[in-house]
Amino acid sequence: MIAVIEMSRPSLHADDEPRAVVVNIQHFSTHDGPGIRTTVFLKGCSLRCSWCCNPESIKPAPELAFNRGQCIGAAACGRCLPVCPAQALHVDSSDDRIRVNWELCNDCGECVKACPSRALYRFGKLMSVAEVLAEVERDGAFYGESGGGLTLSGGECLLQPDFSAALLESARRRGLDTAIETAGNVPWAFMKQVLPHVDTMLHDYKLTDRGEHRRWTGVDNARILENYQRAYREFPEVRFIARIPLIPNVNDDEAHIDAVLDAIEGHPNVVELELLPYHGFGESKYRFLGLDGGAQEFSPPTPERLAALRQRIEKRMNREKGARH
Ligand code: SF4
Ligand code: SF4
Repeated sequence: MIAVIEMSRPSLHADDEPRAVVVNIQHFSTHDGPGIRTTVFLKGCSLRCSWCCNPESIKPAPELAFNRGQCIGAAACGRCLPVCPAQALHVDSSDDRIRVNWELCNDCGECVKACPSRALYRFGKLMSVAEVLAEVERDGAFYGESGGGLTLSGGECLLQPDFSAALLESARRRGLDTAIETAGNVPWAFMKQVLPHVDTMLHDYKLTDRGEHRRWTGVDNARILENYQRAYREFPEVRFIARIPLIPNVNDDEAHIDAVLDAIEGHPNVVELELLPYHGFGESKYRFLGLDGGAQEFSPPTPERLAALRQRIEKRMNREKGARH
């Protein structure tokens, strides 16, 4: 289990342009806000959800990953062995392939440069606002017609407020629609700094019960719930989309759904409550990061359960919309 770290604001680079460790830039996303979008995933998260499918997003710094199946073997290659300054690599005689001693590895990345087969690779790259924007703008032709734009996600993008605010502000100046995805576990000052540059905020309600939230994510939910209420009140121009990552036997009960509906009630700028069914595509990444046994096993919700809960949400949201008109 990786310890929960409360990150502070990252320092600015010498040229005063904020930089962040980007773990992935996904093109043509259709589930991260309106239209066709480019989603930028920042590294570093302040929750430790037991069902996490993106373990590569948890640690804030770049880190080594190793896919043993891609290794062509020490006899045929072996180029990584002499370059490791920490003696963290060795050959396993059973298959002649490399093994990583994760206790010794310091994520320096030297072996990645030497590896011709991408068996050794790195999650996370330090990028400037200008570098990220240049990549995002390559998809510009798809934004206009679809109403899409840039979505900043993670990990937790609000843990790097200087970078996030600067990137979203620049994107807006170029006429792009902006969205963020957050789990809300950040100081209010960070959220407040970023929200003036956001058109849509997608935000998670993982568990509304305090004890259960602590049990399944490792942290208390009081700050998260308070941040959301303040955001709804203080940023009426932002469009909020609430989301529940639906995990059977963790949070797929009516009490949680109703508690979220209570939390968003009376806030007309919360336009939707979405259910995101657990899909479980993350197992291999745990192995590649040396985190065997890091993920607990969960099953996706059944279509019947999903439909019943969606119906419950729709019914109540329609009733509230009707009452407002
Ligand atoms: S990342 Fe650095 S310390 Fe880790 S195995 Fe590769 S060379 Fe060695
Ligand atoms: S450099 Fe890559 S392919 Fe070559 S032995 Fe090392 S891990 Fe295997």
